[in-house]
Amino acid sequence: MTQLHISTPLLEHRRLSASLSRSVWLKMENTQPSGSFKLRGIGLMCQRAAANGARHFVCPSGGNAGFAAAVAGVALHVQTTILVPQTTHESVRAAIRAIGATVIVEGGVWDETNQAALRLCEQPGTVYIPPFDHADIWDGNATLIDEVAGKLDFDVVICSVGGGGLLSGIALGLERNGLGHIPIIASETEGAASLHAPVQAGELVTLPAITSIASTLGARKVAQQAFDWTRRRTVHAVTVSDAQAVQACLDFADDMLALVEPACGAALAVAYQNLPVLAEYKKPLIVVCGGIAVDLGKLQAWKNQFHPAVNTD
Ligand SMILES: *Cc1c(COP(=O)(O)O)cnc(C)c1O
Repeated sequence: MTQLHISTPLLEHRRLSASLSRSVWLKMENTQPSGSFKLRGIGLMCQRAAANGARHFVCPSGGNAGFAAAVAGVALHVQTTILVPQTTHESVRAAIRAIGATVIVEGGVWDETNQAALRLCEQPGTVYIPPFDHADIWDGNATLIDEVAGKLDFDVVICSVGGGGLLSGIALGLERNGLGHIPIIASETEGAASLHAPVQAGELVTLPAITSIASTLGARKVAQQAFDWTRRRTVHAVTVSDAQAVQACLDFADDMLALVEPACGAALAVAYQNLPVLAEYKKPLIVVCGGIAVDLGKLQAWKNQFHPAVNTD
């Protein structure tokens, strides 16, 4: 089976390396054909399902998971339906349709959209593709660590967390490459702290609401698997403000000439803000998870919202 994702560039962030007196490395998942790391896990899950005879993929997601499922389905020549909530922006619906997948607008919130997706999956040959909670997805996401292992000397991995599929993949990838001792810094925005909250509480709690602009991180509850990893290995669960995540996106655009979502800015902010948790590490590897829900206009609007120009009159 040829993989659907690409092997992404591994780049040093020279300016941050210099200013932090560390070796700061970037795994550029924003360069995946789907614009985010999600093609690794969702692509592998779709591939395995197709090999087992799937004739239709159904994915409930108005975001990067839906787009990755669409990219995978089209590449595998399997009919693909992406269900999106009414709140999903028209540009995202258009992007999914443009590559040849079907978009169905269903439900006011994701839970309703998900129920509709599950009903569709009662048809024979139809396979449900979840955004983050499946072993195939973690297995595929782990390939980003396979690509780095043995090539780069790093002492911590920094990633962001929504439902925990990326975190679970990184933890699995480290383990299967004999690097299970390497800690992970798992970053979220304060209004989407679905991992930080259960780590603090000592049990898998559900957030009452999502209040962050980083909607891609907006799962109210992480996968049980992600929570379990925090008990089996070192995971530092940290949070940053929306303003810090946006500032990291702006700085990253200037430094690396690439646009990423605030969801990705949350991970980048750990280094840009030089959070105390970084103090004990010398060679951080940041997973630049990417995301397609960003453009110059959105970045400018977030900048105005969080960093309005100071009036010097
Ligand atoms: C999906 C996604 C995340 C969060 O990943 P989870 O597996 O849900 O934790 C973070 N950033 C981007 C850009 C994403 O697409």
